Amino acid sequence: MMIKVVKFGGSSLASAEQFKKVGNIIRAEESRKFVVPSAPGKRFSDDTKVTDMLYKCYAEASEGKNFDKSLKAIKERYNEIIKGLGLKLSLDEQFETIKKQFSVLAGEDYAASRGEYLNGIVMAEYLGYEFVDAATVICFDANGEFDSEKTNKVMSERLSKVESAVIPGFYGAMPNGKVKTFSRGGSDVTGSIVARAIKANVYENWTDVSGFLAADPRIVKNPKPITVITYKELRELSYMGASVLHESAIFPVRKEGIPINIRNTNAPDDKGTMIVETTCHTPEYTITGIAGKKGFVSISIDKDMMNSEIGFGRKVLQVFEDNGISFEHMPSGIDTMTVFVHQDEFVEKEQKVLAELHRAVHPDSIELESDLSLVAVVGRGMRNNSGIAGNIFSALAKAKVNVKMIDQGSSELNIIIGVRNKYFEDAIKTIYSVFVPED
Ligand code: ASP
Repeated sequence: MMIKVVKFGGSSLASAEQFKKVGNIIRAEESRKFVVPSAPGKRFSDDTKVTDMLYKCYAEASEGKNFDKSLKAIKERYNEIIKGLGLKLSLDEQFETIKKQFSVLAGEDYAASRGEYLNGIVMAEYLGYEFVDAATVICFDANGEFDSEKTNKVMSERLSKVESAVIPGFYGAMPNGKVKTFSRGGSDVTGSIVARAIKANVYENWTDVSGFLAADPRIVKNPKPITVITYKELRELSYMGASVLHESAIFPVRKEGIPINIRNTNAPDDKGTMIVETTCHTPEYTITGIAGKKGFVSISIDKDMMNSEIGFGRKVLQVFEDNGISFEHMPSGIDTMTVFVHQDEFVEKEQKVLAELHRAVHPDSIELESDLSLVAVVGRGMRNNSGIAGNIFSALAKAKVNVKMIDQGSSELNIIIGVRNKYFEDAIKTIYSVFVPED
């Protein structure tokens, strides 16, 4: 039998009405046996997520302030859901415990995790599924690092004993029992871990969009949805800012070759995006997607005969490493090399880095250019397809977008283009229109 892990994000569980949609989705397919909920998210655009309410409430507790009012507001969010679903469930006992734990300052992670914990209890009651506390099956080590192999063992053993379960997202526990969370948005990671542990056929991740779009809709009007994307393409796009899924969520399922299906709770008939290891499904357009980020600086280092100086690149990069600055790209010429770094990581240390570069490699000159953007054009369909770079650059030239840097990885999966921030939107629009015809 087919088994699916279904994870629902905060906006899918923000109110009783949303819960009902989720209930319908789960009941529509027998395979949906393992459910991972987030905490209730925003009901309307300037609403506050329960997780943020919890952080605030805990901050009050740690400052020694009275936090009764804040905790009450959180309890009301749950009671509204419980009432709207017509459940006979009281969370009084849980809230008593939470209050006590906040008073003894049980930790910020503990506080934040209660959003998922309580929502898991409500969800389990609503579905008639067993509640499995994530603190008992998601293991972090004593340093607070996620222990994937131990978790996989503990969780698969535990879940083999149940037919259907709700496992709250976002947190686990360290060997001493202290609750630890993943970074924000971490319920996506929990869903992936559960899918791996039970060897699910599919990991469905339900959110409020129908999957990934080929470009940012704030820049390109009605961008096309991406139906199938590989893990690798997704990494490239998410790294460049396309954010639908937590970036660590692909690793657990990837180990088992389980596909992730991004779906929309508010449009359950949409097929969404399938994220797969590899596919022979040819993309509809040569590119799969375009994404980009602003805020880079390029540091161009020139020196005659650099080319024949062994160790030059290493010495340059060592300076960045010593200053705790990670580099993004490093295009080079014969007697020149350029290092792209994040502007906000670099600004403070700028003069120190320049002085150290002078000392390390005695360049003829160093030039800086700030306010640059990087645009990534990603697509497995670009491989073995000629003329793509040509098309991109002639279109950019026509649109009068000045290209500062080009970097094509040898995997031919992406082309990265550096432009000034002011050309960022134009560059994305232009490239998109080269590949995706208007309908
Ligand atoms: N509730 C947590 C957050 O707001 C985790 C999640 O939703 O995935 O970040």
